[in-house]
Amino acid sequence: MPATAQEDIAVPLGEDFADIREGIRRICADYPGSYWRGLESRGEYPTAFVRALTQAGYLGALIPEEYGGAGLPLRAGSVILEEIHAAGCNAGACHAQMYIMGTLLRHGSERQKREYLPGIARGELRLQAFAVTEPTTGTDTTKLKTRAVRDGDHYVLHGQKVWTSRALHSDLMLVLARTTPREQVAKKTQGLSVFLLDIRECRGKGLEIRPLEAMINHNTTEVFFDGARVPAQNLIGEEGRGFGYILDGMNAERILVSSEALGDGRWFTRKAVAYAGERVVFDRPIGQNQAVQFPIARAHAEIEAADLMLRKAAALFQAGLPCGEAANVAKMLAADAAWHAAEACMQCHGGFGYAREYDVERKWRETRLFQIAPVSTNLVLAYIAEHVLGMPRSY
Ligand SMILES: Cc1cc2nc3c(=O)[nH]c(=O)nc-3n(C[C@H](O)[C@H](O)[C@H](O)COP(=O)(O)OP(=O)(O)OC[C@H]3O[C@@H](n4cnc5c(N)ncnc54)[C@H](O)[C@@H]3O)c2cc1C
Repeated sequence: MPATAQEDIAVPLGEDFADIREGIRRICADYPGSYWRGLESRGEYPTAFVRALTQAGYLGALIPEEYGGAGLPLRAGSVILEEIHAAGCNAGACHAQMYIMGTLLRHGSERQKREYLPGIARGELRLQAFAVTEPTTGTDTTKLKTRAVRDGDHYVLHGQKVWTSRALHSDLMLVLARTTPREQVAKKTQGLSVFLLDIRECRGKGLEIRPLEAMINHNTTEVFFDGARVPAQNLIGEEGRGFGYILDGMNAERILVSSEALGDGRWFTRKAVAYAGERVVFDRPIGQNQAVQFPIARAHAEIEAADLMLRKAAALFQAGLPCGEAANVAKMLAADAAWHAAEACMQCHGGFGYAREYDVERKWRETRLFQIAPVSTNLVLAYIAEHVLGMPRSY
């Protein structure tokens, strides 16, 4: 029986964590659209922005105090990411640290936590890379082909990952690999294990990382394992139970990513309202036309609804109650709301939506990602149909 019942949970309304919001807005003001456009044209990582967030302690917000972090609840992480995106910035360069860290925190050994978490909290150690997706198996995660074979006090990795974001800007990488062949386990979810791989140790010794050019500046990569050796003491939790550990972190990931989508939605509506008010065509502001107003108003309504669901998911998560439904619904609603806001903003800017200096096209490309990653909308719907509504499994 959980200590808190659903009926007793209160959800904060309005601008909760006001100090954090203010702090993030101050930092983001130093990183305007021109900063992000410049990085994109050079394909660079936002090092200065990530350093500013780290130095202010925001990336260690969720690390418990005993390991040197701020020990704040997940909702605080949500607020940080929402504000970054609402300011026109992008947290994709560093958000993973918040949820990858959870896997280490919940399932790592005390030795692993003492060894890594304080350094991460101080910003000396970067845990930004999370290698799950593979080129040939995609969403069908349990079929992944990367193998980790025990050899004395090491595991030896062979295989390939794709879309491993930030791997060239991280010291550590969490890797999901198969330790027992699929044919030898009773359930396909068994036999997968999670490793904390030290990129600094392995690079050039069976680990190769190649940048992958993408539609947005996400610093994503392809990762090749060809005999990379990971100390057995860097296995997280028990061998063979890694899939469960990864699933366990997904609700937090969904909640945090929804917050980014929500922030994008707020940025797009603000930008659209401002432009619709100042752009005069046919002798009146375009925002006086209902055909221009309504998509923006509708997007605003969708953002507000997604915000409520997101707050519900974060509150359930914090209370230790099941939050899979709320986290998935929040992810889908926030991603959709952000996309509709992006479309409304793009459309109301007319041709200028395509001009890079307005930042609309950059944010439009960036927010499209939430329909696909970290989980596609179809897979969220499949989760709701099967796990919430009890319909037959479709895949
Ligand atoms: C910019 C970017 C950054 C990323 N960063 C990371 C990262 O850091 N680490 C990492 O591990 N991964 C990362 N990913 C990968 C991302 O999580 C996957 O792209 C995503 O999960 C979808 O997998 P896939 O691309 O293999 O699509 P596929 O699995 O090939 O699916 C293709 C399409 O088919 C649909 N589909 C597939 N099966 C079904 C079904 N049964 N029912 C209905 N529809 C279905 C999907 O919804 C999708 O739209 C990133 C991706 C991108 C684009």
